[in-house]
Amino acid sequence: MNNRLRKITIVGGGTAGWMTALIMETEFSRTSAPKDRPRICLIESPNIATVGVGEATVPHMPRTIRKAGITERDFFRETNASFKLGVKFCNWNKDARGNRIDYVNPFAHGQILEGLEAAEYFLRFGNGDRDFTQSVAPHDDLGRLCKGARELGQPEFEQRFGYAYHLDAVKFAGMLSRVCTRRGVEHIQDEVQSVELDEQGNVSHLMLERKGRHDVEMVVDCTGFRGLIINQALGEPFLDYSDYLPNDRAMALQIEHPDPEKIESVTRSTALGAGWTWRVPLYNRVGTGYVYSSAHRTDDQAADEYLEWLGDSGKGATPRVIPMRIGRVRNAWVKNCVAVGLSGGFIEPLESTAIHMIEHAVRWFTEHLPTREIEPALRSRYNRQMNRLYDEVLDFICLHYRLGNRTDDQYWIDARTEMKIPDRLAENLELWQYRLPMDHDIGFATLFDFRVYQTVLLGKQVYDTGYGPGIRDRLRPVKKPIWFHYTKGAKAHLAQILKTMPDHKTLLRDIRGELEQPAYARVAAMKPTVPMPGEAPEPVKIQNMPNHAEIRSGAKDLQLF
Ligand SMILES: Cc1cc2nc3c(=O)[nH]c(=O)nc-3n(C[C@H](O)[C@H](O)[C@H](O)COP(=O)(O)OP(=O)(O)OC[C@H]3O[C@@H](n4cnc5c(N)ncnc54)[C@H](O)[C@@H]3O)c2cc1C
Repeated sequence: MNNRLRKITIVGGGTAGWMTALIMETEFSRTSAPKDRPRICLIESPNIATVGVGEATVPHMPRTIRKAGITERDFFRETNASFKLGVKFCNWNKDARGNRIDYVNPFAHGQILEGLEAAEYFLRFGNGDRDFTQSVAPHDDLGRLCKGARELGQPEFEQRFGYAYHLDAVKFAGMLSRVCTRRGVEHIQDEVQSVELDEQGNVSHLMLERKGRHDVEMVVDCTGFRGLIINQALGEPFLDYSDYLPNDRAMALQIEHPDPEKIESVTRSTALGAGWTWRVPLYNRVGTGYVYSSAHRTDDQAADEYLEWLGDSGKGATPRVIPMRIGRVRNAWVKNCVAVGLSGGFIEPLESTAIHMIEHAVRWFTEHLPTREIEPALRSRYNRQMNRLYDEVLDFICLHYRLGNRTDDQYWIDARTEMKIPDRLAENLELWQYRLPMDHDIGFATLFDFRVYQTVLLGKQVYDTGYGPGIRDRLRPVKKPIWFHYTKGAKAHLAQILKTMPDHKTLLRDIRGELEQPAYARVAAMKPTVPMPGEAPEPVKIQNMPNHAEIRSGAKDLQLF
């Protein structure tokens, strides 16, 4: 008789719990017969609400949805989703003249021109009044003009431009719950009252309020910030990140679209007095929130600031306050329990990374699936991998604060000067004063590779405002005509793209089946813009400049971005 796991119990029915169920079910059923795979059972308290936020994603999500056999039509209809082409950072930095900078961190990056990164040319020569993102990708323009992520009639999941989704968190969990239970996941609506451990310290069973004893072989703790099993029962220490990140509270409000026909296809992150606000436009409403530091604002002060920012949209509303536990458990997998989602840790939502981390956590767990022996080698490699993922995200979030240059509130000064940064980032920031980020600078990147760092450095215009003085004189020599031809071609193509791309609302209506003359196509031929873990990244194409005939004929259209 083999010793394979026969059952996996998930506790928690928020995004983490249901994503865990979905990804496990998808992975197991793809490769194994029902009798050989563990049953999945999800226990969810009917009395404890989910966190109810977490509505912006990154480009892994379309791939996960597709892999799970969910159509984009169903997904968009059921979650009121919209497209997200990137994050627009507003007012995080001031330019050399003291004016506010707004820039987009897009799901795209500059290409290689004659063997060199577009970023190097941009830093050397600039591009008139267009910033770096606007010079290498259409995402900022598409977002500003409330355009969609692909043309009408292009097949589902087709990534003409890199995209992710905005979605309604509560509806998303509801959709996943329906999909999973249809596919055989057992759903128990009951509350875990206590957790029993055996002599080795493994979780042996859970006591449920109504159903009584529930035996456990392997349990996934998705109970949110309370960490019912990983922290409370198993006592795994929580590593607090408050030395690195200032924000520990958030408040949220859902508002109506000021103009329902205009749906921006980017998430906005706008710096306020003691933190930043998010603006996530869905099909039918806009999710907003203020992430702030309790050391710099009381809840009342933060609410005043937030409501003022919302203007008429927030009139008479009372925002919901959400305390945030920032950091991670020392190890996500302890004994026979793995913590996924907020129970495992949370780094503030500036780059919408939490759902991305959930996806990796579950996928990596299925790759390290133990038997009932719960092999320590699998556990320790998994934990090492998860901790590296936290390091990756922590570094990148810290970057935004450390390279801010606002002085109008003590918060921004403290965020820049009082907060610690990880040694890895400190070393890179020393280096990048002399050259731009390069491939080998970032040891581990599921999402934030060196090009994303280039985008933030150039987006914040740090090389014009005191960081890396004289860097342009140090850069290796590059030929101006290469850049000149590129930008000229890119401009022509951008004009063409903007002409042909539909507005976002129309595209969403088409996908949802609400257009009188539908163009919707179902064939899925998705090329993910971000490689999945374990997959070799797409080889970088070294591309020569398109000539004018190619530009005019449109033959080089897509490759430009
Ligand atoms: C302010 C804020 C903004 C965010 N924005 C983003 C974003 O833009 N993008 C992103 O990717 N992520 C974001 N996140 C993170 C994201 O919201 C979470 O990662 C995601 O919702 C997963 O939450 P969860 O399922 O771990 O926890 P929860 O949603 O809190 O769910 C916990 C579940 O556990 C159950 N439970 C608890 N105790 C028991 C018990 N005793 N018995 C049975 N069941 C129990 C509850 O009923 C609930 O179902 C944000 C988070 C915050 C705080």
